Amino acid sequence: MEPRIVRANAGKTKIAPEDMFVGQVLQDQIFVPEDPSRLRVTRVTFTPGGRTNWHAHAVGQILYVLSGVGRYQREGEPVEEISAGDTVIIPPNTRHWHGAAPDQMMCHLALSETDDAGHATSWLEPVSEDDYTKATT
Ligand code: MN
Repeated sequence: MEPRIVRANAGKTKIAPEDMFVGQVLQDQIFVPEDPSRLRVTRVTFTPGGRTNWHAHAVGQILYVLSGVGRYQREGEPVEEISAGDTVIIPPNTRHWHGAAPDQMMCHLALSETDDAGHATSWLEPVSEDDYTKATT
């Protein structure tokens, strides 16, 4: 890990892969793991209706909402509204999804780490329209 400042203009925004996300989702890598750190930090911008597939993280995940209004659901729990300034703490091996509100964008930082075996995220099936549009609490 070299000491440095990574400038704002250094990276390239990527379109998130269709086999892991629904709708138009943009990813900016802020930090990729560098030994001995296992931390990965990604800024994810979800356009209205955009969301992750169902998935789980081997050692959990922290989301910090930077802007907009979004949705978050743990399997078996109600859909929750999340907005700028909220921090979402997701325990290891917990099925969940996160994304924008149906009519508003949402941008969050996603912070996660690999486990001892190098596993980070297990990707599962898309979130159905029925699940996505359920009323929020
Ligand atoms: Mn997640």
